[in-house]
Amino acid sequence: MTGTPADDKPALSLQGLSRRFGDTHALRDVSLDISEGEFFTIVGPSGSGKTTLLRILAGLDRPTSGALLLRGQDVTAQPPNKRPTAMVFQSLALFDHRSVGQNVEFAMKMRGVNAADRKARALELLDLVRLGAEYYGKPVTQCSGGERQRVALARALASDPEILFFDEPLSALDYRLRKTLEVELRSLQRRTGRTFVYITHSLEEAMIMSDRIGIMRDGGLVQVGTPSEIYDRPRDRFVARFMGEVNILTVRDERLTELDTPLPGFADSHLILRPEALHKVGPGVAIETKVLERFQLGSRVQLHLDTPAGLMIAEQPAACPLHPGDSARFYFDPDAAHKVTE
Ligand code: ATP
Repeated sequence: MTGTPADDKPALSLQGLSRRFGDTHALRDVSLDISEGEFFTIVGPSGSGKTTLLRILAGLDRPTSGALLLRGQDVTAQPPNKRPTAMVFQSLALFDHRSVGQNVEFAMKMRGVNAADRKARALELLDLVRLGAEYYGKPVTQCSGGERQRVALARALASDPEILFFDEPLSALDYRLRKTLEVELRSLQRRTGRTFVYITHSLEEAMIMSDRIGIMRDGGLVQVGTPSEIYDRPRDRFVARFMGEVNILTVRDERLTELDTPLPGFADSHLILRPEALHKVGPGVAIETKVLERFQLGSRVQLHLDTPAGLMIAEQPAACPLHPGDSARFYFDPDAAHKVTE
């Protein structure tokens, strides 16, 4: 393929997007570039602005200020049907009284594609989302939750969008189906080479599927990075806590304040210790603990520990002999800990 200047431009460029609703700053100055073919996931607690941001990206709402560029072209004021994008909602918004085929063909019909071509393309798309040709004539009402999800995906792909937006599409499904569809969505994104922008509450979902994750808080993007960057090097305590179980200890005046232990040469900071950073053998800083709870997590156990620094969480191999009521000494290496100042 020959390159055109547009190929060098990000698929999406968010330039200082803000959105106010009266006194509520739902989005605050969000700037970000999303690359062509990237799977980008936006996560954040309830009310952090994820839906507001996605609606603006999809053209369902306009920012109070800022601009949105699609491959370098300003589309801020363009309605959604004029953009090369499509959206999959949590509610799926399928036409229940129509067949699977009619749902998938909807956008093509609107564009005036003839019946034979529509059907051929619909069958291709059904195959792509792993629904066989036998689903083509089935009423949507006779499809299971996971099948409906696939129909919604095929329908979104039918308009041949450059970018697909997803608003928590899996949150209503049971755990196993969600896990299957997470993997399938990721694989579909790779096979189609399209740009996917996805929002979810579920960090696990974000970690599994995404090339990069953006973490939102109070309407702002607080950190953007690959899943491992964000997990291993959170920029502050908020992101560290958001990324899963974590122990946080404070260093002030070259001492670990909670453990009253000297740490010569250490600057004022917070040490981020994942449960797997607490070890049963030294060297390192020792912590005297009492086991409060033991939870089996498949091949590992999680221990809740009462310590001079309060509750701490450790993860150990399943063979770990410790049980509630046992006393135990744990160690961690302060040099290996990730440090943050906020
Ligand atoms: P959730 O995960 O619960 O869906 P969210 O991260 O998607 O939350 P938003 O729905 O974007 O958050 O809301 C961000 C903030 O903007 C909230 O304080 C919300 O109350 C406010 N908000 C969103 N839409 C409107 C609206 N149409 N009118 C007034 N306030 C709104």
